[in-house]
Amino acid sequence: MTQQLPAAMPQSLFDSRADAIAEAARRLAALGWTPATSSNFSMRVDDEHAAITISGRDKGHLGRDDIMLIDLHGHAVGTTARPSAETALHTQVYRRWPEITAVLHTHSRTQSVASRLYAARGAIQLQGWELQKAISGYTSHDSVLEIPVFPNTQHMPDLVAQVDAWLDAGKPLHAYLIDGHGIYTWGRDMAEARRHLEALEFLLECEMDLRRLSS
Ligand SMILES: [Zn+2]
Repeated sequence: MTQQLPAAMPQSLFDSRADAIAEAARRLAALGWTPATSSNFSMRVDDEHAAITISGRDKGHLGRDDIMLIDLHGHAVGTTARPSAETALHTQVYRRWPEITAVLHTHSRTQSVASRLYAARGAIQLQGWELQKAISGYTSHDSVLEIPVFPNTQHMPDLVAQVDAWLDAGKPLHAYLIDGHGIYTWGRDMAEARRHLEALEFLLECEMDLRRLSS
């Protein structure tokens, strides 16, 4: 399946994004956070396009051919490949925040279990952890970092609407969990997105350990 790029888009630009996605995916797969071809990753290419993983590929072995171009409404551009089923959740982030260039979504065991544990409350409140400072905008362990847990659905417009409702209520959002499913987070570049994802995984593990050990 060949990827045709818009005339104004340099091949080197698309390739650099595809390589960054593949490298991040390899590292996250090695951690066991992308079981059974799950998870999806994307990067903004320009104001109107993003590069995203093609549906169903093994995230530990991605190459440039496993990444495709989409517009910011989730339509394939210059390819007949099918983007990830959850593409709408990526493009929502790019449309909301022009400065965001990378979105990561994984399905680790910790993320999956934490989402089930906190689904009834609708959110996890993290407080008192030094590593909260790894999230951009947080400078103290004293602040409250709230991660919403949205109900899972296979109907993406419903999930998009839940994220929109949270943001439209004026609440900060750096990441969200989907019940029984996984996590979404993002960053102004791939390094920031990866830092957010690693910090959140660690914080969720700590919260669950604390719950286990204090019961
Ligand atoms: Zn997923």
